[in-house]
Amino acid sequence: MTSSSPSTPVVTRFAPSPTGFLHIGGARTALFNYLYAKGRGGKFLIRVEDTDRERSTDEAVKAIFDGLSWLELFADEEPVFQFSRADRHREVVDQLLERGAAYRDFTTAEETGRLRDEAKAARRTFESPWRDREPSVDDLSQPHVVRFRRPLPGRVTVEDEVQGTVNWANEDLDDLVLLRSDGAPTYNLAVVVDDHDMGVTHVIRGDDHLNNAARQSLIYDALDWPRPAFAHIPLIHGPDGAKLSKRHGAQAVHEYADMGYLPEAMRNYLARLGWAHGDEELFNDEQAAEWFDLSGIGKAPARLDFDKLAHVNAHWMRMADDDRLAKQVLDVQLARGHVLGEDDEARLVRAMPFVKDRAKTIIELADQTGFVLRRRPLAIYEKALPMLADESGARIGRLRDRLKLFASWDVFALEAELKVFAEEEAVGFGKIGPGVRAALTGDGVSPDIAKTLAALGREESLGRLDDALQQTK
Ligand code: GLU
Repeated sequence: MTSSSPSTPVVTRFAPSPTGFLHIGGARTALFNYLYAKGRGGKFLIRVEDTDRERSTDEAVKAIFDGLSWLELFADEEPVFQFSRADRHREVVDQLLERGAAYRDFTTAEETGRLRDEAKAARRTFESPWRDREPSVDDLSQPHVVRFRRPLPGRVTVEDEVQGTVNWANEDLDDLVLLRSDGAPTYNLAVVVDDHDMGVTHVIRGDDHLNNAARQSLIYDALDWPRPAFAHIPLIHGPDGAKLSKRHGAQAVHEYADMGYLPEAMRNYLARLGWAHGDEELFNDEQAAEWFDLSGIGKAPARLDFDKLAHVNAHWMRMADDDRLAKQVLDVQLARGHVLGEDDEARLVRAMPFVKDRAKTIIELADQTGFVLRRRPLAIYEKALPMLADESGARIGRLRDRLKLFASWDVFALEAELKVFAEEEAVGFGKIGPGVRAALTGDGVSPDIAKTLAALGREESLGRLDDALQQTK
């Protein structure tokens, strides 16, 4: 039985362990939970699973929230920190003890190790001698753990929304420790109590947790709590089909930000990583939320595909606001050592419509727009200087004079004008283009000439042409 009847509002959660950066796989898990809730008018929650005090760090908590904020995946309530709920976890262990679904195990750690080895050698599951033994009053003052008493014999079945029906013989799962001897609650217990208390209806997470679903289901059953629906999604693999690892490149979400991908592109791309809605590749957040469902999640691991990511990103860059792109490009340039000029942002905004379709990432966009931020007079690369002298220089001079009289600075009008000019001069534009581009950009990197002129604006373009012709006189 799950609690996912149509009348129950959907509640999902993302439950990262704060032991490092936000992994791309974690980001996708968060996104799937987010979309599932949003598409159903439900709630998306975040729980920081910081019970492992040795491995959890504040920096990791910050890194994870930074990654989620960059992706704009915000929770509908304040995040829950699991460690702060330890008293509640212990309270539930008391309930389990009262119900006979848990027992105190006084076996020492060494003895447990020995019994475990013995069981392993005999191919048996380890059982604590205390499973069926009543402790005396004296025993109770001794150090001990509390274990879950799994029902034996029996089977546990999980109806997984992705993996289908999966079942385990209870025999094969051992009596899991719920409370350590220092009173610290363990992971599987804490997850069940928190998911229950947070009203989580759907647990969507990596399929490395499928076995935990079996153990957790037994705990739900022992407490007579309704189980949530489970959906265990296959992990992300690298382009070569091997499990994602360092050698495949970026794993942390912030690295994708640094590489110049936009958050909305990342969301679009990650949504398609292991989930499909027909052949749809490019979609916005509303469509994603509307379309996302668990039945569209594949059973085979999805492969990271950087070409596809670049394609998706290029699409979202074309759709993006010019002001926003300009700001991001400027940030990249400043990080590269560019000295901020007063009108830099305005220059970039003006140029954006003519350059943004030439780049697949913000980094590429910064490379493509370097010419916009240069200050007059430009240093022109040496090889181009002859193109600005003698007969070809004179021709560029005639073009400049003509453009000076040109009232409209519209890109289409400029394009037409350049064509007419080339015809009148009886030369192919290939003869004029490189010199003009060198004069306008210094290094010859820019879109076609009409767009370059439009991107720079009238005054700057004519000024640069003047400077260049002056230099080579
Ligand atoms: N904290 C677990 C992890 O980071 C997730 C547990 C869960 O989603 O139930 O892998």
